[in-house]
Amino acid sequence: MVINGRKVAPGQRAAIELPVAGLYTATTMTMPVQVVHGHKPGPRLFVCAAIHGDELNGVEIIRRLLALKALSRLHGTLIAIPIVNVYGVVTHSRYLPDRRDLNRFFPGSDKGSLTARLAHLLVEEVLGQCTHGIDLHTGALHRDNLPHVRADLDHPETERLARAFGVPVLLNSDLRDGSLRQAADEMGIPVLVYEGGEALRFDEVAIRVGLKGVVQVMRALGMLAAKPGRGAPPKEPVEARSSTWVRAELSGILRAGVGLGMRVRKGTRLGVIADPFGAQETEVTAPVDGIVIARLNLPLVNEGDALFHIARFRSNESVAAQVAEFQSAHEGVIPDPDLYGGEGLPPE
Ligand SMILES: [Zn+2]
Repeated sequence: MVINGRKVAPGQRAAIELPVAGLYTATTMTMPVQVVHGHKPGPRLFVCAAIHGDELNGVEIIRRLLALKALSRLHGTLIAIPIVNVYGVVTHSRYLPDRRDLNRFFPGSDKGSLTARLAHLLVEEVLGQCTHGIDLHTGALHRDNLPHVRADLDHPETERLARAFGVPVLLNSDLRDGSLRQAADEMGIPVLVYEGGEALRFDEVAIRVGLKGVVQVMRALGMLAAKPGRGAPPKEPVEARSSTWVRAELSGILRAGVGLGMRVRKGTRLGVIADPFGAQETEVTAPVDGIVIARLNLPLVNEGDALFHIARFRSNESVAAQVAEFQSAHEGVIPDPDLYGGEGLPPE
């Protein structure tokens, strides 16, 4: 395993600073990468976060992942990149200084825009050496996501790993043009996208669920030893057949009436948009039956703003019950300090 010209031999762990374009203040910039190369051979997995610079739960998931004592018995190689968009994290922004969205510019190019060059660097130095990947995201600014996995569920290996992640909701999502996932797919690398929580916030449940999911995928890949006989087997996740965003029909102040994971029927009142005096009230209703997987937390809305994301399942009722049970199971968990370096990974 060679990154940035540095060799990381089996049994070694290395912190590597990948040089990226500096700032105009003559300040140098780097993308920090940690490579954990196990003693035994196995898959080469990248786990990355903050491709969108304001999405922070993944940064904490990777910090906890790297603290796991179980990594001393790793099979294969883990390449952890907690902060891909270093510029965006510094400025609390989703974007890069050239105002582009990195996740629309993969695989990038070394002669292109600043954003295209950053994408190219990640593809050349990291993706090109990996067999599998997990890309950690949250909702956009003021938008909260129910923890779920997005993946190409028609691809058998990707589907197997998505199920191993252990979240109740899987979204079979089309490849977005220019996303990391699309670039990886074209290189033959199965990638899961984990979504959980909100931009610029740490969400403890989304972090715990994400950490546990990454560990379970590593077990499914044979990178970490499986732990048989502890607790009940995880429930089968449910695959969403489609999803739709409900948008504001007019500008105003939103009073949301439904939370994440709630089941709604076509016509269910999701909220009310009103003027500040409450004189003009307009109901926002669900256009379809489904489960709320994302919602806007900011009450100030403009016409056209995305308010609620509703995923549709074969049985919305059983999904809602499963999501509620899953969420409450992750709210009050006992950490296992021996295994997880004092961090709150839920018991199995
Ligand atoms: Zn994102």
